[in-house]
Amino acid sequence: MLEIEEYAKKYNIPIMQKDGINFLTGFIKKNNIKSILEIGTAIGYSAIKMALVADDIYITSIERDVSRYKEAVKNISKYNLEDRITLICDDAFNVSLTDSFDLIFIDAAKAQNIKFFNKFTPNLNDKKYVITDNLNFHGLVNSRQEMSKNLRQLVKKINNYIDFLKENKDYDTTFYDVGDGISVSIKR
Ligand code: SAH
Ligand code: MG
Repeated sequence: MLEIEEYAKKYNIPIMQKDGINFLTGFIKKNNIKSILEIGTAIGYSAIKMALVADDIYITSIERDVSRYKEAVKNISKYNLEDRITLICDDAFNVSLTDSFDLIFIDAAKAQNIKFFNKFTPNLNDKKYVITDNLNFHGLVNSRQEMSKNLRQLVKKINNYIDFLKENKDYDTTFYDVGDGISVSIKR
């Protein structure tokens, strides 16, 4: 695992922070989650961590960047998890799935969170969960710091997503100030 963490650091790949990943794996264990859809594999770090919680957990994970996907394939085979982690190399918006899941973990393009949520929640089992990462976006979401126009727009979109979750009557959402900011939404 250290090897993957070091690779991520070297090549600037935004894998989950330590306390964030610990929160996520603890949640999966506590709530007995068995099937997971992840949007944003990167190099497979969070997928591997989630799969290692229990040997009857199955994960489907989508990554659009080909070189990251290839690195994820390598890492997953190092851990012999090919049978339990299914990787899809495509833009998530091109992917349609018929399976249903206990957890949808959204950790991809931060400006698209509402669209990911709406596209994939039909695949969520009743009374189950959507978890979203990076709602603080490296501390920028609640800062008055000067930012480029692009960054400002991204922060605005993250705030729109936060409002969307708060107002969504079909889900109960709790926000956690752990890692880079994580939300847990429970389908009513
Ligand atoms: N979950 C990973 C980190 C993911 S980083 C971990 O913690 O280990 C976010 C990834 O989402 C990036 O690799 C990026 O290429 C991917 N991504 C962004 N938008 C996407 C989309 N629309 N479809 C598929 N992958 C996407
Ligand atoms: Mg993240």
